[in-house]
Amino acid sequence: MKNLLIHNFGAGPCILPESVLNRAAEAVKRWDVTGLSILEISHRSSAFEEVMKETERLVRHLLNVPDNYCVLFLQGGASLQFCMVPMNFLQGGKKEAVYLDAGFFGAKAIKEAQLFGKVNVIASSKEQGYAYIPKDYTIPEDAAYFHCTSNNTIEGTEMTRFPVTNVPIICDMSSDIFSRPVDISKFALIYAGAQKNTGPAGMTLVIAKNKFLDSVKHPVPSMLDYRVYRDNGSMYNTPPVFAIYTAMLNLHWLKSKGGLKQIGQENLAKAQLLYDEIERNPMFYASARWEDRSLMNVTFRMHDQGGEAEFLKYAEQQGMVGIGGYRTVGGFRASLYNALPYESVTALVHCMNTYAEKHHVNVVPVY
Ligand SMILES: *Cc1c(COP(=O)(O)O)cnc(C)c1O
Repeated sequence: MKNLLIHNFGAGPCILPESVLNRAAEAVKRWDVTGLSILEISHRSSAFEEVMKETERLVRHLLNVPDNYCVLFLQGGASLQFCMVPMNFLQGGKKEAVYLDAGFFGAKAIKEAQLFGKVNVIASSKEQGYAYIPKDYTIPEDAAYFHCTSNNTIEGTEMTRFPVTNVPIICDMSSDIFSRPVDISKFALIYAGAQKNTGPAGMTLVIAKNKFLDSVKHPVPSMLDYRVYRDNGSMYNTPPVFAIYTAMLNLHWLKSKGGLKQIGQENLAKAQLLYDEIERNPMFYASARWEDRSLMNVTFRMHDQGGEAEFLKYAEQQGMVGIGGYRTVGGFRASLYNALPYESVTALVHCMNTYAEKHHVNVVPVY
């Protein structure tokens, strides 16, 4: 059993439910009726084919995926999607792709797209340290697609609204997929590296409108062609068997908890508790502008930045794991993914309170 005094605020790979870890561990030792491990079973076995089908069913059920969309399981992380998207939908065409520059990962996607065609960066908050999501822009009608990131994992901002346009919207949802209800029908394609709310690292989830995939007219290498995954049930080559199996367990857990509406409420309560403390504790301030603050990754700093290392050490002594900010950003980031219990946020808030007390700073208690 895990040490109960540890609170895992890691940004990804991140906390998974204890019950999922236990079942995955059992399956590593002995999984199917013959006694084989999940690690040594053929991906073509009927038992594993059922895992593929069940995982797809769970994705479709939880996200309410429309029938004219396919659900694909790929590899290469979200980062491979940065080049796979333009390779399929920008290359070979005359249209430009439109990108929103609202965070570190979105900027990486822009860099890759520029290898394949004309990229129009329609708006950017880079000069302001990506502290907010730009909203004042108009997407040209004739663009090949519009690319955005729903949750900026490093900066701690999240899109609550998406532009209304006839241009196909492609969205990197790596760090807030399955955290709240989302209307898939608004998007032409979404992708997500699994290691934030879906399961362990090693699998990338793609959900795409079939018609959008069929609009690709130029040849694309098989392993980078979405249609090859679709037409082969995501088994053109060996899929990441264990990652998909564990994702299936995790999505089952999510379904049994009541699905996205329920988890969305719980995630909101966790984020509110922490943002409230950041607001009320005079030692800290939130890094992101309030209207765009992420419910998944809460970024904050200390007014006395020289004291941040000391607080980090103090928090670690109290069992807080993974609250250091991204290596190029500094400060703090507490990731509140689905499996993180409310009690862990209470513990972090308590830690911020007692730290302030230790420094004779007066904080009105939150609970
Ligand atoms: C984590 C993350 C990525 C990178 O994912 P990899 O699977 O490591 O390639 C990309 N985009 C977002 C929004 C992320 O949170």
